[in-house]
Amino acid sequence: MDLLNTLVDKGLRRELPTREEALAVLATSDDDLLEVVAAAGKVRRQWFGRRVKLNYLVNLKSGLCPEDCSYCSQRLGSKAEILKYTWLKPDEASKAAAAGVAGGAKRVCLVASGRGPTDRDVDRVSQTIEAIKEQNEGVEVCACLGLLSAGQADRLRSAGADAYNHNLNTSEGTYGDITTTHTYADRVETVQQAQAAGLSACSGLIAGMGESDADLVDVVFSLRELDPDSVPVNFLIPFEGTPLAKEWNLTPQRCLRILAMVRFVCPDVEVRLAGGREVHLRSMQPLALHLVNSIFLGDYLTSEGQAGQADLDMIADAGFEVEGAGTTTLPRHRTDAAAEAETGGGCGSHAGGCAPCGDVTDEPGDAEAGTPGARTDLVAVRRRGAGTDLAPNA
Ligand code: SF4
Repeated sequence: MDLLNTLVDKGLRRELPTREEALAVLATSDDDLLEVVAAAGKVRRQWFGRRVKLNYLVNLKSGLCPEDCSYCSQRLGSKAEILKYTWLKPDEASKAAAAGVAGGAKRVCLVASGRGPTDRDVDRVSQTIEAIKEQNEGVEVCACLGLLSAGQADRLRSAGADAYNHNLNTSEGTYGDITTTHTYADRVETVQQAQAAGLSACSGLIAGMGESDADLVDVVFSLRELDPDSVPVNFLIPFEGTPLAKEWNLTPQRCLRILAMVRFVCPDVEVRLAGGREVHLRSMQPLALHLVNSIFLGDYLTSEGQAGQADLDMIADAGFEVEGAGTTTLPRHRTDAAAEAETGGGCGSHAGGCAPCGDVTDEPGDAEAGTPGARTDLVAVRRRGAGTDLAPNA
């Protein structure tokens, strides 16, 4: 297919596809799916070989958020029966992180619900980062605490944070439809603050919220412009008790096309398969490894993932390898550029809210013709790990 040949050439040269080309990837038919995966896989292997980076989520503070992000089980007014707790102590968080590292995770992602941290919260998280770094040599730490105020990114960087996550989630044009308590511009500004402080920016999207193909392309092009080092791609987990509970719009094939499009637009960036992979990709997860070079190990913030050992088995069975602590994730040209910027970022030639939060119900979703039925049987609220007395999944 001419389209795919063009996109592979561009991806190998880190050249930006046109919006029409990105839209055309999303419009390909199921008959062409393996060709699309193979093409984007060539670009993935050029920049990341067969390596898969493992990341481990620690939910420092769960639920009770004053913001109204409609996709989120921790939002204001959420009726989802998730775990709710306030800040984990540094030693509790460090213990949870250690389980992830022992399971093979190279990066620990410290996430807290809320609009953004107070200066006291930044103190707490700084102590937690120091405890984790002391007890887990070489581990990367990413903080995800919401909107940052002046100076907070610098303080997190000084405490040893390597990265900061704040997702754009969806296009600028539709942002107001999913959240009213903060703006798209607020999110962009926080990513830029993180970058200015020398933190590796992580910013991604959530697919499956009822957005159009054009919205998806818009947000991915905006991410490329923002130039984060890692782009998590979440697939909406439609939690019962949230406004988007009936949004079961995704098929495994659609998820793969979205991941391929993100890879073509952001060829040399850590593209991470994030929340919702088990629910929406299901038995097609191994194909996604040909497109992404990073996944979360184990559980998510408020929902359970498949067993950590199943993740490791899947990676090995699909012919990929877990990226070791001594390997630099990003290609050389990106790390050199970051070093230059530090002594004097992101997608291609040139970093949201929180990671996805993820209730079990027996009610079917709106299974209209051409859309999949709800798979609420696959959504399990997290009941183990951080904030509980049970061992974490790693
Ligand atoms: S995504 Fe973050 S800011 Fe938005 S409701 Fe959830 S926890 Fe709060």
